[in-house]
Amino acid sequence: MDPRVEKFMATIKAKNPGENEFHQAVHEVAESLIPFIEENPKYKHAKVLERIAEPERVILFRIPWLDDKGEIQINKGYRIEMNSAIGPYKGGLRFHPTVNLGILKFLAFEQVFKNSLTTLPMGGGKGGSDFDPKGKSDNEVMRFCQSFMSELSRHIGPNTDVPAGDIGVGGREIGYLFGQYKRLRNEFTGVLTGKGIDWGGSVIRPEATGYGATYFAQNMLETRGDSLEGKVVAISGSGNVAQFATQKVTELGGKVVTLSDSSGFIYDPAGIDKEKLDYVMELKNIKRGRIKEYAEKYGVEYFEGKRPWSVKCDVAMPNATENEVNEEEAKTLIKNGCYCISEGANMPSTPEAINAYLDAGILYGPGKAANAGGVAVSGLEMTQNSMRLGWTREEVDNRLQMIMKNIHDTCVKHGKQDDGFINYVRGANIGGFIKVADSMLAQGVV
Ligand code: NDP
Repeated sequence: MDPRVEKFMATIKAKNPGENEFHQAVHEVAESLIPFIEENPKYKHAKVLERIAEPERVILFRIPWLDDKGEIQINKGYRIEMNSAIGPYKGGLRFHPTVNLGILKFLAFEQVFKNSLTTLPMGGGKGGSDFDPKGKSDNEVMRFCQSFMSELSRHIGPNTDVPAGDIGVGGREIGYLFGQYKRLRNEFTGVLTGKGIDWGGSVIRPEATGYGATYFAQNMLETRGDSLEGKVVAISGSGNVAQFATQKVTELGGKVVTLSDSSGFIYDPAGIDKEKLDYVMELKNIKRGRIKEYAEKYGVEYFEGKRPWSVKCDVAMPNATENEVNEEEAKTLIKNGCYCISEGANMPSTPEAINAYLDAGILYGPGKAANAGGVAVSGLEMTQNSMRLGWTREEVDNRLQMIMKNIHDTCVKHGKQDDGFINYVRGANIGGFIKVADSMLAQGVV
């Protein structure tokens, strides 16, 4: 390891003990940025990276709520307000039993770079709870969301901090959270994104992350004169991002052959067409069932407790969660002919897996670039809320495509090596850093 990176990471680890995912995210960025900062001493002397790695504010709170049996349940609530140099804090809320401070700090840290890459004026934040919506009734989810917002409402606002969805937080949860905020503050504002169309939401917001990651894959393939047409695509997850990635890949002529959840994956060699995807959406978003049921309905194979990376594919889109592709799985993907990875999820590949992609010289779009379409359309939702206007599908989709293309171009600008290989990791980290760092320099020591 570069001794300068090692020294920097030793301080990060000492200041943030036990926060492994946060260390991992900072390390990846430090490897790209520290050599760049050495060449640009203005950032070094102002300790910009050191400041970016320390949240501006961390809010921790208790969420008491009553379950259907009348028993009191207590969860932990968090909001990490990471960086506001270029705009209000912006980033999703995650409800999942694995949520802890280290996970949310990694997500908030990545969000700072991602939001900067979109070119929109959004700072970085992230929040959530260790609450598990799985197996809870709608009423329990509502009471939990109301209790969560009762505390969070003091800290957020349309010009301060604008949360959105993430794992376990979809349209239903955003609705309950928004309703409670409105009731407490007596104002109808764009304080959350991912709202329903009838009450301030933007068209294409639910689709945006999956569509954006697919557009990013297409942009990467185009650098080699290629496209998604006729490609076999392995996708993990079966939630928001996975569903709309499946839809867009299929529209662009690709064939999606896998989907998964935390219990296992299905392999459908014939491809998940529109009718089958409609079934998945109903199964996951309304019945809240398991992906295994797909295998039973369509008579395809189901692999309990496994991830889909052993399947032969041209393109892989990890769209479930962090560290879901390890070194061995990355090497298996490459051995089986996969040459393009576009990450819909945040940090789904381990550092060893990333090294395997880079060593093999395949197209690799890291999450902070490839999945920025979600927050980009959240930014467009904020704009529409401010103007009190709603754009058409075509208008929002065009803007999304343009933003993904700009992000891709930024990665090429900062990541293209002398031998022509595009290192999208380096490109995204440096491209995302410059705007935030220059803004911090302009605003003084704050
Ligand atoms: P959803 O809750 O809609 O879906 C998550 C999917 O991933 C489910 O299929 C879930 O399975 C699976 N999953 C979650 N945790 C795990 C785990 N620990 N192990 C295995 N599988 C798991 O979330 P999203 O689709 O919104 O988010 C997916 C990823 O995309 C996350 O990394 C998120 O941070 C990222 N992302 C999301 C954005 C958005 O706009 N929604 C924006 C940018 C990034 P199960 O049902 O069994 O839990």
